[in-house]
Amino acid sequence: MTYPNTQLFINGEWQDAASGKTLAVFNPATGAEIGRVAHASIADLDRALAAAQKGFEKWRDMPAIERNKIMRKAAALMRERAGDIALLLTQEQGKPLAEAKGEAMAAADIIEWFADEGQRVYGRIVPPRFALTTRQMVLKDPVGPVAAFTPWNFPINQVVRKMAAALATGCSMIVKAPEETPAAPAQLIRAFADAGIPAGVLGLVYGNPAEISNYLIPHPTIRKITFTGSTPVGKQLAALAGQHMKRVTMELGGHAPVIVCEDADIALAVKSAGAAKFRNAGQVCISPTRFLVHESIKNEFATALTQYAHGLKVGDGAAEGTTMGPLANPRRVTAMAEFTQDAVKSGATVALGGERIGSTGNFWQPTILTDVPLGAKVFNDEPFGPMAAIRGFNTLDEAIAEANRLPYGLASYAFTRSLKNADLITRRLEVGMLWVNMPALPNAEMPFGGVKDSGYGSEGGPEAMEAYLNTRSIAISNV
Ligand code: NAD
Repeated sequence: MTYPNTQLFINGEWQDAASGKTLAVFNPATGAEIGRVAHASIADLDRALAAAQKGFEKWRDMPAIERNKIMRKAAALMRERAGDIALLLTQEQGKPLAEAKGEAMAAADIIEWFADEGQRVYGRIVPPRFALTTRQMVLKDPVGPVAAFTPWNFPINQVVRKMAAALATGCSMIVKAPEETPAAPAQLIRAFADAGIPAGVLGLVYGNPAEISNYLIPHPTIRKITFTGSTPVGKQLAALAGQHMKRVTMELGGHAPVIVCEDADIALAVKSAGAAKFRNAGQVCISPTRFLVHESIKNEFATALTQYAHGLKVGDGAAEGTTMGPLANPRRVTAMAEFTQDAVKSGATVALGGERIGSTGNFWQPTILTDVPLGAKVFNDEPFGPMAAIRGFNTLDEAIAEANRLPYGLASYAFTRSLKNADLITRRLEVGMLWVNMPALPNAEMPFGGVKDSGYGSEGGPEAMEAYLNTRSIAISNV
């Protein structure tokens, strides 16, 4: 599939920006420009806003069972087209084709789960306190048009988690999708358009992220903001939303601790956490990052993880056999070099990698750092790349304190055969998600989100639906 130029989607029509302005899109494996994406200006946003209001009024009033049919059709189209969509996603983002196809397939699954959940948005009838001629009702209504801001690491998944929940409740949505990876999210919107979603229910724009968020968040048409990205940007957008009393869901950065206890199954820990670490070249908000390993097994674990990482085949995601692609943009390569230099300066040992591969594309070696001091940048800032930092611990209390030390609180992992350890970790870890003795399983039916600086709100389970619903109390007296 040749890589297309990506247009805006406004009021049910694919169109260029009113100004005709476009931005370049690059293949991270080659550095070559592969296409252009339309750059919206305020005039485009105004049309998208007017359409979103009209679309909302239509979609809100459609029976949930009808909305379900359209959503299920879109899911089927995503599944049918997953192979072709993967080719686009890999070209613009870099991840191996199998991961790209998996992302498109997972989108179908998420859409279906929320489509069904949308038929179960129940209110309540509450018995009255006084006259029985009074009926008390609790109603759940969609909040209205939503503005969504999504990043480049999972260009489809980050949109669909928001969109499926919003659509299932009857909301419309304008998505500001990532300029660096525009074609894959456009295919998601196309699936809904081809499934017959009414004009205006979905809008898709690209442009200058700050200009778009500064315009959409305060705009009276927009009733809810949802953002996935870095903590500093999330704080800015949440503050702006707060000034305008807009409801917000924030899915921000993480710095996932992996606690490997002395009684852990080391092979399982290496296989599970290793796969999670290098998936999408580590550009994942729930990526395992701080490996806290009991001193008695630290060397054995580090050797096994190094062997695992050594076995990865780094290359163009479109090439046969590639298990780790390039980083999505040159910023990440610069960041990896800084993290490595700082770690070495702080006294850490580079057990594997630590260098850029070649001079074409954004390739970075899978990197394992051992005996990393707590003060090293990689143990404090989210590396967002293929870098595992290992250090030892002596008591579980010490490991838990370290896990909770950072302001982040998104994902975490633990490996232990002891129920007592698992229970203590479950109760004490300040995180939104914990996986014990297993890889991450962020499926549609489970809440997905963080605590502390990792944000608030959820992008999975019934909680994700609540984020797009207003709860209203109604009492009617039968006089
Ligand atoms: P960044 O912090 O500038 O951008 C992160 C995302 O926010 C991008 O998608 C960007 O388009 C968007 N953004 C930036 N400013 C915005 C604004 N004013 N209004 C609306 N959207 C805005 O930097 P980056 O180089 O793209 O990513 C750097 C860091 O972001 C990573 O190291 C990682 O920590 C974090 N990140 C997290 C996720 C996630 O899944 N939580 C995804 C991508 C990036």
